[in-house]
This record gives sequence, C-alpha cells and structure tokens, in this order.
Amino acid sequence: MNFKLLATSIFLLFLCHASWAGYHMIAEVADVKCLSQSSLNNDLITRVGIKVEGATHEEMKQLSQFIQSLIELTNEQQAIHLLSGLKVVFKDILGDTSVGSCLPAHQLVRNQIHIGRFCKSSKGKKLVIPYREGILIHEMGHFVANKHGFYGQYKASVKRKCKLSPYMSKMSNGKKHRNRNEEFAEVFASYFLYGKKLRRKCRKSYAFFKERLFLDNNSNCL
Ligand SMILES: [Zn+2]
Repeated sequence: MNFKLLATSIFLLFLCHASWAGYHMIAEVADVKCLSQSSLNNDLITRVGIKVEGATHEEMKQLSQFIQSLIELTNEQQAIHLLSGLKVVFKDILGDTSVGSCLPAHQLVRNQIHIGRFCKSSKGKKLVIPYREGILIHEMGHFVANKHGFYGQYKASVKRKCKLSPYMSKMSNGKKHRNRNEEFAEVFASYFLYGKKLRRKCRKSYAFFKERLFLDNNSNCL
C-alpha cells in the first residue's frame, strides 16, 4: 500500500473523555433531523455498491438513511458514482487505545471505513462513543475524496480555509493538521448536517461541494 495515500486517508481523532467539553467536530452540532428519516433499506445499500460487516440494525438504518439523503440531494446514479466500492466495518473497539483516549473511526484499510462503538476508560470500563451518526458521514467524506481525488482539487480551488468547526484545523489536543483533508471531511458532513451555517460562513467551500459533488443542488439542511 502506498504510504502517502494511506496517510491522507487516516482519520485519527482521539477523544479525551475526561476533559471533552464544548464542540469540536461538526458531528457534535449535527442536525440529524436534516437527514432522511426513511426506514432501513438493505436493498439500497447493496444497489449503491456498499458492503457492510458487523452492523446492528440501528447502524444499518443510519447508513441507509445517509445514502437516502445523498440520493435525495442528487440521484441514485450519483450516489453510486460517489460511494460504490466502499466497505463499512462496525466493531465494538478499534484496536488498542491509549489510556483515557479513544479511536472512533479510521480508514487504515483501503476502501474501508472502520467504525467503533466503545472505548476503554483507564479502569477498563467501556465508554460509548457519542455522535457516531455524524462521524460516519465525516468518514464518508474521506472515502469520497480518496476515491475521486478531491483533496487536491479542493485545495487548489478553495483558497480560503473553512473554519466552521475547530476540528477543521486542529486535533482535540490543539495540534494543527498537516493538510486540509479533515477540513474536507468536515465540510462534507456540514453539507448534510449543518448546511445553513456552512453556506453563510464558508461560501467557497459550499460552492465547491455543490458543483463538484452534488450536481449543483443546495444542501437539504438550509
Ligand atoms: Zn477525518
């Protein structure tokens, strides 16, 4: 596996549960009411070319509702174009976690999104990872960017950085991201979950997604 590609697709968000206060990611302020409230459609997931492993009924439903939202925003053909070839793997705990921190998701395997449900506290207790619905959509943004080479295009055409969420520019520990890949994934999530603010505060980012990803359709979350 090409290391450069791997590095750009990793999503490492370490949530410090002890001191986690205030909002950091779009997932935390997400308006999930903006998403389709359709019932689980297994057929739809298959039709757009997504494979799933280890999902509960609720997780399948959330995935299905995101796909339905994308289809409502664009059309089924575009959903297939953007998402086909993806595998989503749901697990209780993702790998080893350091004390008091947590890895909610990663894309260390090409074309796969791995999503965790819990992290372990220092006492070995399982803690439920919050905002997983929004995190899944953020991860979808990384997948779409990797699949279609959007990171480079975004950086070249949107000169002004979008700073809608703190996570767009830095990790929860304050360390700055080395590239704008997290910004891209956050803008992607915002288009579905926080569209009104995105359009107002990051006009160029909004326009890029509208034209290049969503067939010139406005966010359904305005
Ligand atoms: Zn990310």
